[in-house]
Amino acid sequence: MKRIVIKLGTGILTKGIGEIDTERIGQICGQIAEVRKRNIEVLVVSSGAIGMGMGALGLKSRPQSLAKQQACAAIGQSRLIQCWQDGLQPHDLLAGQILLTHEGLRIRNRYVNAKMTIDQLLSYKVVPVINENDSISAFEIKFGNNDILAAMVASLTEADQLLILSTAPGLVDMDGDGNVIPTVSKITPKIEALAKDTDSPTAVGGMISKLQAIKLATNSGCSAHIAGGAESDIILRILDGEEVGTQFEASDSPMVSKKRWLAYFQRPSGSISIDEGACKAIIQDERSLLAAGVTGCSGAFHEGDVVDILDTSDKPIARGETKFSSHEISDIAHKSGDELNSMYPDRKRLEVVHRDVLVLL
Ligand code: GLU
Repeated sequence: MKRIVIKLGTGILTKGIGEIDTERIGQICGQIAEVRKRNIEVLVVSSGAIGMGMGALGLKSRPQSLAKQQACAAIGQSRLIQCWQDGLQPHDLLAGQILLTHEGLRIRNRYVNAKMTIDQLLSYKVVPVINENDSISAFEIKFGNNDILAAMVASLTEADQLLILSTAPGLVDMDGDGNVIPTVSKITPKIEALAKDTDSPTAVGGMISKLQAIKLATNSGCSAHIAGGAESDIILRILDGEEVGTQFEASDSPMVSKKRWLAYFQRPSGSISIDEGACKAIIQDERSLLAAGVTGCSGAFHEGDVVDILDTSDKPIARGETKFSSHEISDIAHKSGDELNSMYPDRKRLEVVHRDVLVLL
């Protein structure tokens, strides 16, 4: 174990609405210092900017409008980073603030740059404290929540473990004995059915987004853990192997970097619908998507754009880079390889989405 990402929810960092829990942050910083002594690098993904802004403005419930949430974040973020700095200082550690946007990470050189900055902070022995740049992220370009952001950071930085610490003690077996499930080796539809959303006034995540995040992390080769962030010494206990919360094993065949990039860092510009035969070819036979199985498309996209591939019930089953634009799709739908050859004699590759740039969701 060399590198861990610790995600802390607003409910763990604040008391009531928007009042910072300095004692809790102090305890967490003490544990971070201990982890660093074990030669493990720590990255923190900290929520709480909007919650702290709400507290400063005296708001009792999370505002609905994006502009109000962004205003709260603008007020709360500077308070939040100061709390982290105050908590880390007694341990001779510095906090380094990184505010990310989804849009930024889609662009290859910004993604590489964010990774380089984080690596540099870690080699200065600084604790990166990461959040979404909430005050400038518009809805359509938002990560959505910090569970997903934390998993993307774990994937970006090739971390070994992701700890999601919130008010949830772990994944609860609601179909069975009502206890926390200690280990999950794979996120199956049965496991996903155990998750439900949050109704807290400051939180946005909930178990559904936690499991999505964990899927992303474990598919990137990173193990993950959900546990109650208010429990004493929780980080150290998890690292010592104590059975607490739910542990999720890393996939033994993680996606290569390019496929992770496609699956998790890109937003599709549209979708291509396919028939049952093509679904089978993609899912079971691990083939490329050919024009013969294409039935239609929606959205406007160009050659090289990322699109979702939908099955016959419009469920996204895969994502990939298309070789054909949305204008061309209606001409090539249902066409055989020979027909395509005579339509595009100058094109060398006629797969609609080649397997090398296709990832199953
Ligand atoms: N970025 C948001 C904040 O700092 C939190 C989002 C989340 O908790 O998922 O308030």
